[in-house]
Amino acid sequence: MEIIFNFGIKMKVKVLFLSIVFLLAACKSGDNPVQESDGTVYQGWDNIVHAALGIPVDADSTDDYIIARHQYILSYNNERGVANWVSWNQNADWYGDVERYGGKFKVDPMLPDNFKKVTHDDYTNSGFDRGHMVRSEDRTKTVEDNIATFYMTNVMPQTPDLNRGCWLDLEYYYEDLCKKQDKELYIIAGGIFHKDNYINGKVAIPDSTYKIIVVLDRGQGASDVTTSTEVIAVVMPNTDGIRSDDWQKYITTVDRIENSTGYDFLNRVPVDIQKVIESKLAN
Ligand code: MN
Ligand code: MN
Repeated sequence: MEIIFNFGIKMKVKVLFLSIVFLLAACKSGDNPVQESDGTVYQGWDNIVHAALGIPVDADSTDDYIIARHQYILSYNNERGVANWVSWNQNADWYGDVERYGGKFKVDPMLPDNFKKVTHDDYTNSGFDRGHMVRSEDRTKTVEDNIATFYMTNVMPQTPDLNRGCWLDLEYYYEDLCKKQDKELYIIAGGIFHKDNYINGKVAIPDSTYKIIVVLDRGQGASDVTTSTEVIAVVMPNTDGIRSDDWQKYITTVDRIENSTGYDFLNRVPVDIQKVIESKLAN
C-alpha cells in the first residue's frame, strides 16, 4: 500500500509540474512553444545548451520559427523552406558509434500544420545535395540523435562540390578539435540569400553557406568568452568547381556574416567582447 501511495503522489507531482511548465511556456508571449518530440518542454531558452551564446535575432521575427530539440536549435523560414540558422553545441560526447541513418530525409514533425512541407523528394534531380547543417556524424551517440539531423529543416541545397568538398573539410577539422583537443564548440550555420533562386519554387537555394564556430575549452560557456577566444567564421560559395579548395580559403569575419544575413550572432556575449571577436579573422 505504501508503495502504491507514494507512486500516486509522485504521479500527481509530475502532472502538476508538467502543467506549470506548459503554462509557463504558453505564457511566454512572442516565443514559439519549445517542445521536444518526447514531450519535454523548455521554459524559454535559458537551459538550452545549443543557445548558450545567444539566439540570433534580426529585425523581422515573423519569418523565424524557432524549433528547439535535444540535438540542436534552429530558426526556420517557411517562405524559403530552409532554416535561417541552425545552432548547436559540439564536444566529444556527442560522437558515438551509431550508424548513419539510411532512410529518406524526414519532414520535421515540429513544423506547424499550416507550414509548407519540404520533403526528401523535393531535392531529387535538382542537382543539389541535401546539405546538412548539423552534420550527421556530429550526432552519433543515439539513433534518435542521428535521425534528428535528417529532418528537412536541418538541410539546405548545397552543390556537391561544396557539401563534399571544403564544407566537409571544415566538418572534419572541428571534429578533430572535439576529439583530439577536447574543445567545447558552439556552432551556427545557415545560408546567405541575395537573389530569389528556388528548387521548383519551393526550396530557396542559398548563394553561399556560412558557419561560425566559437572554440572554447571543455565545459566552458558564454561567460568564458574573452577577446582572445578563437572564432572561426567562413562563407563558402554554393557553386561548382570548389571541391578541392581548402576551407581556410573562405575564412571571413562574423561581422560580414551579420551584415549579409541581418542577424546578430553571439548576442549573449558582452558587446565589447563581441566587437573584438566578430571583427577578427581566424588564424
Ligand atoms: Mn554535408
Ligand atoms: Mn553579434
